[in-house]
Amino acid sequence: MAQLSEDCFAFGGTLLGVDAALALIDQRVTPVVGAETVPLDEACGRILACDLVAQMDVPPHANSAVDGYAVAHADLQADQDTVLPVGGRAAAGHPLGRPVARGEAIRIFTGAPMPDGADTVMMQEDCVVEAGRVRLAAGIKQGANRRHAGEDVARGAVALPAGRRLKPADLGLAAALGNDRLPVFRALRVALLSTGDEVREPGTALGPGAIYDANRVMLMALLCGLGCIVSDLGIRPDRAAALADTLAAASAGHDLIVTSGGVSTGEEDHVRAAIERLGRIDFWRLAIKPGRPVALGQVKGVPLIGLPGNPVAAALTFAVLARPLILRLAGAAAEPPLLFRVAAGFAYRKKAGRREYLRASLERDGGSLIARRYPKDGAGILSSIVQSDGFVVLDETVSDLAPGATVDFLPFSEVIG
Ligand code: AMP
Ligand code: MG
Repeated sequence: MAQLSEDCFAFGGTLLGVDAALALIDQRVTPVVGAETVPLDEACGRILACDLVAQMDVPPHANSAVDGYAVAHADLQADQDTVLPVGGRAAAGHPLGRPVARGEAIRIFTGAPMPDGADTVMMQEDCVVEAGRVRLAAGIKQGANRRHAGEDVARGAVALPAGRRLKPADLGLAAALGNDRLPVFRALRVALLSTGDEVREPGTALGPGAIYDANRVMLMALLCGLGCIVSDLGIRPDRAAALADTLAAASAGHDLIVTSGGVSTGEEDHVRAAIERLGRIDFWRLAIKPGRPVALGQVKGVPLIGLPGNPVAAALTFAVLARPLILRLAGAAAEPPLLFRVAAGFAYRKKAGRREYLRASLERDGGSLIARRYPKDGAGILSSIVQSDGFVVLDETVSDLAPGATVDFLPFSEVIG
């Protein structure tokens, strides 16, 4: 298993920009998982381990795109109807079985192989059938309604690149190419835990000063959505020694440990101390809001990412950092999220030099989209994500945003479903 280099996440500066953090992940993290072969119907969401090179053309044969009549274009008159005898029939799965003779039309249906000698199909709606003959209107272009062999994927082409996280259409394409199995990377095994003396399991009694664990189930779903196999290590109290035992145990049999809470610099933040006992830790004090220090490190050679406890900060740092880290460890190609340009429906002031993610909903306004900011922006206000569509991303250079300004919008669907 490939491991992280000793100084994997080491960063000497005080505040690390998001792009610099992503560049570090890109440079210093290598995939940790080997390959296996799985049946196609189990491959959705898995990461393709090698290029899928087409061993055949798709479609395998030229065929008709419509129901109609196949003809040689050269048999059609340019400026008036042409009447031709209907000399045969070709349906999907039932080729004509002979070349088309000059001067004849062939009744043909969608998906039927184009018989040799025919290059054009006239849609049946544009034809009049008259006692074994068909009247074809003038003006059709040569090659109309004919699909070429290999026009979807040509034999020898890379149909799906290594590192791709397989989506439903990818499986369809792999099947169209005749594959019943695909080589994929083994799923990343992730250990997940929450920390905090105040954090309780939903469904149990709460007690004074306690809160329910919002992060773990959210992070569990996010990890599963990325194809990870997750071990749920529950909620752990704020005790460095006990945490160290938990993390040491978690390092066996997992490729990554994900925690939430306890990574700030307060005296009740014990994840840091626990990790330091076992391995090494690097805090990334990110130039990001919301977000607090994110811990990256390793425990007995297994990478660990410690997310902040505030649920919005946990979700955001998952989207921005944990997601690319996980994809990288799992052997996936980078999937930088697609940002959309929309108009800001609000004014905003921020500190230059850090990146801010404001939760917002999109509204249509004529032909454009306007981002309406969620009124409360605390890092603990999870409703702000539930009730919004995504993040307005204000980069490090922005300080004063005027209403109507064009901003980047990162839909939650791109990163956190
Ligand atoms: P911490 O990062 O541990 O300092 O926690 C920051 C804030 O997030 C505190 O208000 C915690 O109570 C809260 N918090 C920590 N973990 C969770 C959790 N699993 N679910 C909900 N809130 C949490
Ligand atoms: Mg805590």
